[in-house]
Amino acid sequence: MTSSTPRKATLALKIIIVGGSIAGLACAYTLRQAGHDVVVLEQSGGRRTKCRGGMRMPPNTTRILNDWGLGPTLEKVAVKSTGVNLLIGKTGERIGKLAYHEPIMTALRGNYLLMQYDDLYSTLFDLAVHAGAQIRYASQVVSVDDSRATVVLSSGEELMGDLVIGADGSNSLVRRLTMGTYAVEEGEERCYFSFNIPTERMEKDEELALLLQSQCWEVWCGDNASMYSHLVHSGTEYAIVLYLTLPNHPYTETYDDHRPISEFNIDLDRFEPRLRRLVELADTFAPIKYVRRERFAPSTSTNGSGRVLLIGDAAHPIRPHGSNNAGLALEDAVTVGSLLSRIQNISQLSSLIEAVDEIRQTRCATVKQDASTRVDYMSLPHGPAQQARDEAFRAGLAVASLEYEEGDEEYDRYYREQSQWQGYIALFDYDAGEVVEDWWAKWGAPIERMEEGVGKQKPNDGETRSPSPVVEVSVVEVLMS
Ligand SMILES: Cc1cc2nc3c(=O)[nH]c(=O)nc-3n(C[C@H](O)[C@H](O)[C@H](O)COP(=O)(O)OP(=O)(O)OC[C@H]3O[C@@H](n4cnc5c(N)ncnc54)[C@H](O)[C@@H]3O)c2cc1C
Repeated sequence: MTSSTPRKATLALKIIIVGGSIAGLACAYTLRQAGHDVVVLEQSGGRRTKCRGGMRMPPNTTRILNDWGLGPTLEKVAVKSTGVNLLIGKTGERIGKLAYHEPIMTALRGNYLLMQYDDLYSTLFDLAVHAGAQIRYASQVVSVDDSRATVVLSSGEELMGDLVIGADGSNSLVRRLTMGTYAVEEGEERCYFSFNIPTERMEKDEELALLLQSQCWEVWCGDNASMYSHLVHSGTEYAIVLYLTLPNHPYTETYDDHRPISEFNIDLDRFEPRLRRLVELADTFAPIKYVRRERFAPSTSTNGSGRVLLIGDAAHPIRPHGSNNAGLALEDAVTVGSLLSRIQNISQLSSLIEAVDEIRQTRCATVKQDASTRVDYMSLPHGPAQQARDEAFRAGLAVASLEYEEGDEEYDRYYREQSQWQGYIALFDYDAGEVVEDWWAKWGAPIERMEEGVGKQKPNDGETRSPSPVVEVSVVEVLMS
């Protein structure tokens, strides 16, 4: 779906979205585009303005934002990344690089952008409101009835819709109330700390100022820890995330916990002095605990009538500060909007929301797995595995540092053989809109034929559908052919 060609449903649903962050706002937009009435209920007191954490937005994500007509806005607030530098934590020596070459990004129809949470949030807020979504703040949902699609607010007010969408984050209340607890739910000793620094403070330090000249994002591989950093907010802020294991830490699972930097007392000895000086320049830090939740599907509660659906972190909680957390939320929004733009009668609703889960489960599992292994890989404790990793990075550095045009046959071999790149391209190449179109062409006809008043039916009696289309890794093949 693009902003210029929205498909309108012939039946307008009343949809209640619980949670007004990235998933909730993006989905409010796609559902308004599909012609539905949307109210977003957000527990916080008003528009968020002080969450400056950095987000990395790969091409699968920025392609969606471009399709929504947001390219010019993004150009103003985001920083276009040209790649990733992989550095030794203790010394800052560069041992590896992944370059986001222009021809590859063009083929993927999206850049790799570095953004601040606030900038993405504000952009989506404006988009959703402009499309006609109603956003209600200070509206904390305390109860959900999935059979009637009703929610109750802490004020006692009850709202009724045709569908409730839980976009209420990784500790989702909607999920707990309608679908039960997770099979695995345990707090880890790992912790993430996010810092933001006005770049003008860094300019006064010669060595730190050099970091500002990089259009790449930097990853420092430490001993059982890692740190990454990049420019955000039109290059006026520098965002850092520190990842480490910290037994018995006091932090909780929220992005809203901003503490004065004077309270930050972690020993950063395993990182080079530049990084320690960098952290000292921040005013505040935001710690977040990671709670591991293994089960994330199904993310629908049809309860006989198809009334509750989860999206974003509520459906597929993954590690905080990953490179695809917002991306998955935006892909969910495209999937939900596209499927519900096809609804003609209420009997189709449960089949359509079950299709969301079916289409998304493989993709979300892949990204969740990738997010876990990638950060662990960059944070390997010092030892044989870390040495093997560093050797592999070093071996590819010379080719990775070449200009694309110079690479030629070496590139061909490099990109085909490097599992790092293969993995990235597979993640970047996912086109949520195309995946729904393909799914619908194959499986949509029985849903289309469902008639009003027949109740819930299986649209594909007797036939087993595959979980979700396999997305081919095509871009590199196209470029190299
Ligand atoms: C304030 C904030 C700052 C963030 N900063 C970063 C960052 O710097 N870097 C990064 O990578 N990711 C950040 N994230 C997380 C990122 O937004 C998500 O990982 C991803 O985009 C998926 O978003 P989501 O909308 O599914 O979940 P979330 O972003 O977690 O949003 C869930 C929303 O639901 C609301 N909510 C929860 N329960 C209820 C209830 N009962 N009733 C009503 N509303 C409810 C919450 O207040 C929140 O706004 C941040 C999230 C938030 C909320």
